[in-house]
Amino acid sequence: MNQILVTKSSMPDLNEYMEEISSMWDTHWLTNMGPKHKKFQEELCSYMGVENIDLLTNGHMALELTLQALDLHGEVITTPFTFASTTHAIVRNGLEPVFCDIDPFNYTMDTKKLETLITDRTCAIMPVHVYGNICHVEEIERIARKYELKVIYDAAHTFGETYKGKGIGTFGDASCFSFHATKVFNTIEGGAVCFKDKKLGEALYELKNFGIHGPEEVSAVGANAKMNEFCAAMGICNLRHLDEEIEKRKKVVERYRAHLEGIEGLRLNSIDPDVKYNYAYFPVVFEERIFGSTRSEVFDALAEQGIGARKYFYPLTNTFSAFHGKYDVMKTPVALSVSKRVLTLPLYADLAFEDVDRICEIILSCKK
Ligand SMILES: *Cc1c(COP(=O)(O)O)cnc(C)c1O
Repeated sequence: MNQILVTKSSMPDLNEYMEEISSMWDTHWLTNMGPKHKKFQEELCSYMGVENIDLLTNGHMALELTLQALDLHGEVITTPFTFASTTHAIVRNGLEPVFCDIDPFNYTMDTKKLETLITDRTCAIMPVHVYGNICHVEEIERIARKYELKVIYDAAHTFGETYKGKGIGTFGDASCFSFHATKVFNTIEGGAVCFKDKKLGEALYELKNFGIHGPEEVSAVGANAKMNEFCAAMGICNLRHLDEEIEKRKKVVERYRAHLEGIEGLRLNSIDPDVKYNYAYFPVVFEERIFGSTRSEVFDALAEQGIGARKYFYPLTNTFSAFHGKYDVMKTPVALSVSKRVLTLPLYADLAFEDVDRICEIILSCKK
């Protein structure tokens, strides 16, 4: 049986990668902000249309160390419809997550509900650009200004995107990206933070290197989250082919839409004309009463045929057993409902059209 996984990591041609790393056999400079790190950083600034960026071991450390660098205390408003990392970054900093519900159409923070959650303990907002859908950035900025709150975007799904022509990394005080193997753009493992304030950048740079300020001074309790040279080299190679990869993903998404658009009981991702998408995910929400089958029944039907869709994001982070029932999931009813009804379908640049056709055929065979 032809197995199809939900994603497949992009890799450059082996020779291209070998050429990129070959100089390391002369320099023996393998990590600690070497020439590949520097080159990759410069290329990212220009590709993303940002002025400031720092590179880290992964997207999680980008989130966690950005919060630490901002020296925050109190409550951070976020959403539970995300990967574990977002909530964990908050809690691991000794901060308290306050969960805002999501917009039923693009699944990002519902800004109509955001203001009601602000207290005198609120210090920051950490919204998530879920599936590559862009948050209501203007409204978030307005509210953050009014209450003097920091905004840190979890931008793990949005590498390469623009909103109204502006690089997605230019919004908020900081935007954190993931270059994990499963993302649209990867450095094997990796992450980055785009930031506005150079002081934040300096703090972050020290925190990713044990808090070392100078040869004889350690001024913060830092971690180790430096991107190594092999990962940076992978990034340099993958970046050369990214536009092409995104174009191929777009074609795959168009193929899915051609089959599934207009089918009663299926809700496809909404499209915002102001966004240049990276086609990171293809979520489908099932309205069981109309479609006739539940999300889980469709998931099982696909699995039986060797197709790995994902219940992404299920369960919600505010229901994790790690939090021992501390958070009331009924406060985020839209997120709860979507998490029970959504499936993200396989999507990667080289996914064959015949496979897309087969996946859609199986889904449509579940319609009653
Ligand atoms: C992948 C992901 C992260 C974490 O990134 P890593 O590079 O895997 O550490 C954080 N938030 C979201 C929404 C993600 O999808």
